[in-house]
Amino acid sequence: MSIIIKDVTKIFGEQKALDNVSLSVEKGEIVALLGPNGAGKSTMMKIITCYLPPNEGDVKVCGFDVLSESLKVRKVVGYLPENNPLYPDMYVREYLEFIAGIHKLGSKSGERIKDMIYQTGLELEHHKKIGALSKGYRQRVGIAQALIHDPEVLILDEPTSGLDPNQLIEIRSLVREVGKHKTVLLSTHIMQEVEAVCDRVVIINRGKIVADAPTRELQLLNLTNRIIRAEFDKTYDWELLKNLNGVMDVHQENEKTVRIFVSSNDDLRAEVFHFAVKNNWVLLAMGFDDQSVEQVFRKLTFESKQS
Ligand code: ADP
Ligand code: MG
Repeated sequence: MSIIIKDVTKIFGEQKALDNVSLSVEKGEIVALLGPNGAGKSTMMKIITCYLPPNEGDVKVCGFDVLSESLKVRKVVGYLPENNPLYPDMYVREYLEFIAGIHKLGSKSGERIKDMIYQTGLELEHHKKIGALSKGYRQRVGIAQALIHDPEVLILDEPTSGLDPNQLIEIRSLVREVGKHKTVLLSTHIMQEVEAVCDRVVIINRGKIVADAPTRELQLLNLTNRIIRAEFDKTYDWELLKNLNGVMDVHQENEKTVRIFVSSNDDLRAEVFHFAVKNNWVLLAMGFDDQSVEQVFRKLTFESKQS
């Protein structure tokens, strides 16, 4: 295990930012911490990276305890904080030399800086001042500094926030590339990011973990809500579809389209087809409506607000 979080609670004044949270991340995984603003994502990341102590619970990174072995933890963790704080007046290479110095890389630092500049695609920018770079390139500098000491674990707090669509794609592919050799925990409130980058998603809401599943599994989760979308030539009495075994509910989407909520994992398309024919309904198209992480996320975070 690269990261083990056990029964962690973090309290700010009256507020529990993390409420008895447990989570393990295996070596080599790319895990998304997904949740709305204020969910506790940054707090969890600050605890893992030794910037904040937990009030209760244990956190170990590569076997080292964040409280009693924080220097060792800092050696094995690379961290890109939220809002990527950088020194705008420093040159890219100068800044990386400064960070290499903090990590006491010594004679290895020249080679490492060269590798990082290459790996993060900063070859054309490394002689520029950080303040002169675009947001996407500043993120690359942030990722380069997080990687410079070759940590086993990489913690990225909202690495793509504020990027334009092209930069977003570039940074996501950089994270995926880096993730081939590292354990990565990244936070995001963007569902598409999870689907694009991560093997597994942990959903956090109001300081509590409300779901933890492989990204693919979460998309398929809630099989009780398999949805068939069917298009007809006009409106029919679609309520009748509820007579079919397994159909839980029917929602009219527009004049010609209906969404059929199926309670089981059965493929009811053939039944829907035959039912339409029997009733002289003209069916034009039919397919599954994928349960996206987004829908599941909405559902789960909504439900936990209710409880
Ligand atoms: P996220 O990163 O998911 O948006 P945070 O971990 O930053 O959430 O914050 C979780 C909760 O803890 C929020 O309600 C936030 O206001 C509160 N919080 C975070 N840091 C502090 C702090 N230093 N002092 C007081 N409250 C804080
Ligand atoms: Mg945050």
